[in-house]
Amino acid sequence: MIEFIFTIDYEIYGNGEGSLRELVYEPAKRLMEIFEKWNAYFVTFVEVAELEIIEASNSDQAITFVKHQIHDFYDKGFEVGLHLHPQWYNGKYENGKWQLDYEEYNLCILPLDRIKQIITRSVEYLRDLLGVADFTPFSFRAGNWLFQPTHNVGKVLVDHGVKVDSSVFKGGLQHQYKLDYRRALKNDYYWHFADDVNVPNPQGTLIEFPIYTKMVPLWKLATAKRIGLQRKVPTRIQNGQQRLLRILDFLRPYHPLKFDFCRMTMSELIHILGNEIRQDQKDPNLFRPIIAIGHTKDLIDFDTVDSLLLYLRKNEIPISTFRAIYHKCNFS
Ligand SMILES: [Zn+2]
Repeated sequence: MIEFIFTIDYEIYGNGEGSLRELVYEPAKRLMEIFEKWNAYFVTFVEVAELEIIEASNSDQAITFVKHQIHDFYDKGFEVGLHLHPQWYNGKYENGKWQLDYEEYNLCILPLDRIKQIITRSVEYLRDLLGVADFTPFSFRAGNWLFQPTHNVGKVLVDHGVKVDSSVFKGGLQHQYKLDYRRALKNDYYWHFADDVNVPNPQGTLIEFPIYTKMVPLWKLATAKRIGLQRKVPTRIQNGQQRLLRILDFLRPYHPLKFDFCRMTMSELIHILGNEIRQDQKDPNLFRPIIAIGHTKDLIDFDTVDSLLLYLRKNEIPISTFRAIYHKCNFS
């Protein structure tokens, strides 16, 4: 049995460039309209750190619309998850540009007290924004998918009542940040975990629902659509060592292609789903949640999103949220 979960990372570009209206508010508004037409929901992973700091610096007037929009998502029943790029918290806005604190890029390697401070602050911002004093995000996604080493952040999330993570993309490898999700290729569609998000542990409180990936040869990543969207992304200047580490990531025959509903073409999406549907027909008792990812800043091709929703409906695949499927997967 397949259920499909759309997740959207709600944020501007990683270095702070670009406007909230263009990269967040407007695309999210159109996405919500499409989903309302289909009577369906997505999970919005709200990048809380940038919103708080943009608001405090008064650098983008659209923050008011963005905050209303998040409230609207919540009121209408969309799942509001927590997404964090901690480099924003010490960010400074100078001469129209953001100087972010890349020493705090990976939440997982910060001291435990700092992790607690950041997660508490981000949850409080959401509570304040939603006007719900005990709001707890049900799900979490780490910035740049960095959820290793897992132990401390996992524990703090559990202490806050978070139930689900969706940071892993099976087969993922980033030498620069010591991210290695290759071990997860052996895992099922979802798993409990504790000390290492890669390793299933039935005693763990959190459940991982990984972003769906397929391992493909490098050339298959190079569609015109994906290259076009990647070109728009302003990149941080990398030093020689960082460039070398990035090259190392690509020195292997197969690479994870994420199920990205903003970057994939319709034929790629259908190809993957067709395979899953055939597998499911052979073994319909296995529960197969499929987690798709998208980014508001990449949302340009709304026709493909609409066609994907039509395809799912025609194939009678329910469109769900983490909160809605959790009871089927929690055996602890
Ligand atoms: Zn992000």
